[in-house]
Amino acid sequence: MRKKIIAGNWKMNKTPKEAVELINMLKTQVDSNIVDVIFCVPAIDIIPAVEALKGTKIAVGAQNVYFEESGAYTGETSPAMLKECGVEYVIIGHSERRQYFAETNETVNKKVKKVIEHGMTPIMCCGETLEQRELGVTIEFVRTQIKGGLAGVDGEDVKRMVIAYEPIWAIGTGKTATNDQAQEVCGAIRTVVSEIFGKEVANEVRIQYGGSVNGKNAAELFAKPDIDGGLVGGASLKAEFGEIVNY
Ligand code: PEP
Repeated sequence: MRKKIIAGNWKMNKTPKEAVELINMLKTQVDSNIVDVIFCVPAIDIIPAVEALKGTKIAVGAQNVYFEESGAYTGETSPAMLKECGVEYVIIGHSERRQYFAETNETVNKKVKKVIEHGMTPIMCCGETLEQRELGVTIEFVRTQIKGGLAGVDGEDVKRMVIAYEPIWAIGTGKTATNDQAQEVCGAIRTVVSEIFGKEVANEVRIQYGGSVNGKNAAELFAKPDIDGGLVGGASLKAEFGEIVNY
């Protein structure tokens, strides 16, 4: 039985002071005993977030990382830096990073491997555009993203990973995929993982749905057999995140 996992993606929101205020409000609303809960905060908020979450079961995640160990990469954050600050999860390949920062399946793959090497858990994102959905190529496109992102990763490590299926047309738009649309693609992701790494790995890897998840639609989405929780953007910055976690 896979444990549900619900992560908030704060994106580029909240200064360190605001982050601590939000955490102090949310930690009283969120029951992290039954599901795994993660706050993926901006890099500058990681240290105060880890401090503010001490004594709780809520983990801190980062929203990006670089795939080199150190050196002349101005503006980047290394995996060792994140690890030392107490980061447990790292979002990799979010569609906003693919769109605005030229992230590709190849860079996603390098980052996934580095994050695993440093003992953190990747939350690897995938998902199609509206145009791809309308053209009927969603499954094919997502399968390619999964194959590229997981190339050369050890099956034992894939078991402990999180994959987030986020249709781009549903992110931040208020347009959620139907439960069946979300299940269809999450099921297809589990199938491709099974083809590459075998059934045991596919049964253990956790697959989230993301895209306008809210307090009203969370329970039905998370009840689907291949959806093991959610990656939540907008609603993770409000008390509503508590409703999602306590679905
Ligand atoms: C996201 O940013 O990963 C996301 C799913 O955003 P939202 O919940 O706002 O659609």
